[in-house]
Amino acid sequence: MAKYVYDFTEGNRNLKDLLGGKGANLAEMTNLGLPVPPGFTITTEACRHYLAEGALPEGLDREVEEHLRALEESMGKRLGQADDPLLVSVRSGAKFSMPGMMETVLNIGLNDESVHGLAKQAGGNDRFAWDSYRRLIQMFGKTVLGIDGDLFEDALDALKDGRQDTDLDAGELQRLVESYKGIVRDQTGDDFPADAREQMRMAVMAVFDSWNAPRAILYRRQERIPADLGTAVNICSMVFGNCGGDSGTGVAFTRDPGSGRQGIYGDYLQNAQGEDVVAGIRNTIPLQELERLDKRSYDELLSIMETLENHYRDLCDIEFTIERGKLWMLQTRVGKRTAGAAFRIATQLVDQGLITMDEAVTRVTGDQLARLMFPRFDAGADKRRIAKGMNASPGAAVGKAVFSSERAAELAAQGEDVILVRRETNPDDLSGMIAARGILTSRGGKTSHAAVVARGMGKTCVCGAEELDVDTAGRTFSAPGGVVVNEGDVISIDGTSGEIFLGEVPVVASAVVEYFEGAEPEDDLVKAVDRIMRHADGARRLGVRANADTPEDAARAVRFGAEGIGLCRTEHMFLGDRRQLVEDLVLAAGAEDRQAALDALEPLQKSDFVGIFQAMGDRPVTIRLIDPPLHEFLPDIVGLSVKVATGEATDKDRALLAAVKRLHEQNPMLGLRGVRLGLVIPGLFAMQVRAIAQAAKEVPGARPEIMIPLIAAVQELECVREEAAAILAEAGVGALIGTMVETPRAALTAGQVAEAAEFFSFGTNDLTQMAWGFSRDDVEASFFSRYLELGIFGVSPFETLDREGVGRLVAIATEEGRATRPDLKIGICGEHGGDPDSVHFCHDTGLDYVSCSPFRIPVARLEAGRAALSDTDSDTR
Ligand code: ADP
Ligand code: MG
Ligand code: MG
Repeated sequence: MAKYVYDFTEGNRNLKDLLGGKGANLAEMTNLGLPVPPGFTITTEACRHYLAEGALPEGLDREVEEHLRALEESMGKRLGQADDPLLVSVRSGAKFSMPGMMETVLNIGLNDESVHGLAKQAGGNDRFAWDSYRRLIQMFGKTVLGIDGDLFEDALDALKDGRQDTDLDAGELQRLVESYKGIVRDQTGDDFPADAREQMRMAVMAVFDSWNAPRAILYRRQERIPADLGTAVNICSMVFGNCGGDSGTGVAFTRDPGSGRQGIYGDYLQNAQGEDVVAGIRNTIPLQELERLDKRSYDELLSIMETLENHYRDLCDIEFTIERGKLWMLQTRVGKRTAGAAFRIATQLVDQGLITMDEAVTRVTGDQLARLMFPRFDAGADKRRIAKGMNASPGAAVGKAVFSSERAAELAAQGEDVILVRRETNPDDLSGMIAARGILTSRGGKTSHAAVVARGMGKTCVCGAEELDVDTAGRTFSAPGGVVVNEGDVISIDGTSGEIFLGEVPVVASAVVEYFEGAEPEDDLVKAVDRIMRHADGARRLGVRANADTPEDAARAVRFGAEGIGLCRTEHMFLGDRRQLVEDLVLAAGAEDRQAALDALEPLQKSDFVGIFQAMGDRPVTIRLIDPPLHEFLPDIVGLSVKVATGEATDKDRALLAAVKRLHEQNPMLGLRGVRLGLVIPGLFAMQVRAIAQAAKEVPGARPEIMIPLIAAVQELECVREEAAAILAEAGVGALIGTMVETPRAALTAGQVAEAAEFFSFGTNDLTQMAWGFSRDDVEASFFSRYLELGIFGVSPFETLDREGVGRLVAIATEEGRATRPDLKIGICGEHGGDPDSVHFCHDTGLDYVSCSPFRIPVARLEAGRAALSDTDSDTR
């Protein structure tokens, strides 16, 4: 019989799949003996069943009832009991944290009777009881009954009339409850449900449903969280931070999630409940001030934070509540952090003896490293600072100020850079936050919604810039000194310093890039990156090469740690002032003219290769012979046609137009390109091979590898190989001859192909196009977003290698190629070579190296190290 409910005493932190992160960690804290209000968790399995079948699984109601009885017994009160009610919260909690994306309902169990019982039990604190009741109706109305939350907000605002919520007295709150109940009746045609168990059951289903709320779907897509996990539900007995001045609620981090420094970081709000802190309804106070308000709770909190850090061996974030001087822990998890903090914290934990260097490498990601390589504002530039807020999420963002999510998404879709400016953000702003370059808010601290979500997304964010007066309706904000910024005006925000500038501030390379370029590590962050990179390099089994076509790129690649070039494209060598020669080649009337054109190209090609060989020293350089169709190098058909039509054309223009028309293809991706071109135009590949051989002779130590593109059959390769081998032999130059594996047929006949190839390099862009049968340029705009929405794939197969399909072709070709030729060298080139997930795939599949663009090389090195270290049976452990 399936078990769908776990008491907090039954779970532990390893059960995140089943209990969600919140439930697993509530259980872990309970078992550590920390003060957690008792409760239980309904599993994600129950959620998946509910979402698939549209009904709660059989037996769940009974199981919940049993756990609720046990809870009631231990608390000595019953849910919703009139004279002394047990109240609970019903809280979402998925495996991966999705801050604020799903629902939580507090104070379940209140109704017109039990509200009096609650007041009595709180020593006649009527205000507290009515405040709790109005919160229940508000949260329940919005999340469970689907009523527009503004209706409640507006009623509350009208009542407050400029005062703070804490200024409302019991009588006013009681009247508010009446008007809230009226809203429920108007909007749903029914009374607010008075039955406590009914409230709970409805809230559980609403939490399950919130898994599929649009903003949750959007967030998962952005964060690449699988769509089919479902959420757990935690039923937790209530503790109250809204009992008066000796109560309150707060959030804290065990270290600064921005810098990684140890210390006391957090926000506290007196006489408040739950969401109030992150929602920014009143200004919070820094956690340090709690020491003055309630020293005992403060000391206990600090000691718990230390316990948690040592236990989780990582930065933790914490949600807590103080009820009349008694501290309660309501949540903890290993906290999100900025990219820089991730590197700093990992090495700090090593120095504290809490983790090993191996673990430190697995604690950071290639994406985080990539973020550290983003440019920053030029310190020397002229800039006009208009205000300063909190440095919530680092980076340098420039864009037009916009004041709504819709506008942000609209302008971003037109290719504009925008900065989303809000008083504070809420979960409905997610689409705008995704679209924006950066986020600026005038309220809320480092734990506010904007800050937490931006850090999670790696987006630049400055929050709580209180000097700004933001008028979202009027689409404008003002700053001290009479500065006014209207929608569309360009601003620059610095998430590292918290500064806000008027206009566009120029950017410069990051310190981490300067380090990769060869600068000595100086600041803490760069030192941490240096230590982790060295350890990753020592651990990794995969080689890392670069895609580079010019001596400049090649030199940068070497500085960034490339061990060779995995893809040197020769296309660009046919562009620029060499177009003329290509035109001559295409228009050549006979063998003689053609040879003349090729002879003219050869020394130019040779000098290109000399430069690259010099930059690479004795590292291997894989040169791909010309790949794209020839017409790509000819003038545009429209321009030529116009010339001909208007009579301005020369004879040559007319001949070119004829050639362009002759070479025109319906499906150029599947047309005359790659090896086919080499086989159809005599002397073309031979010229390139000769240029390579001559260049190699000139540069001592050069290690060329010649790569034939787009073959589908071993016979194609054999034809080219024979000619190339003869040229190399004649020149007395040794070079491997190999092939791209980028057609499905080449992959499926790899055993044969390997007879003629000394190396394989997977061209996974083409392989993906041909395996799926769609071309990247055509599909990304037309239907990919729909496919992502439908979950046909969780992420574009052009971004992350599709393991099941394309990956299987790679695995087959690797295995069968090596069966023919055990020392076959195998790599991958194309964008996937610098994508973290794909690098792990290449490690798992046993490839020899990945090749990626120079800027991605550090990312690939780090991920290759992480892949090796998370390999349980690898020797490096
Ligand atoms: P989220 O996933 O959005 O953080 P939570 O389930 O953690 O939502 O609930 C939000 C806040 O509500 C918590 O941080 C806490 O302050 C408050 N809360 C939740 N359950 C309880 C409870 N049993 N007693 C008191 N406050 C609670
Ligand atoms: Mg929470
Ligand atoms: Mg290709």
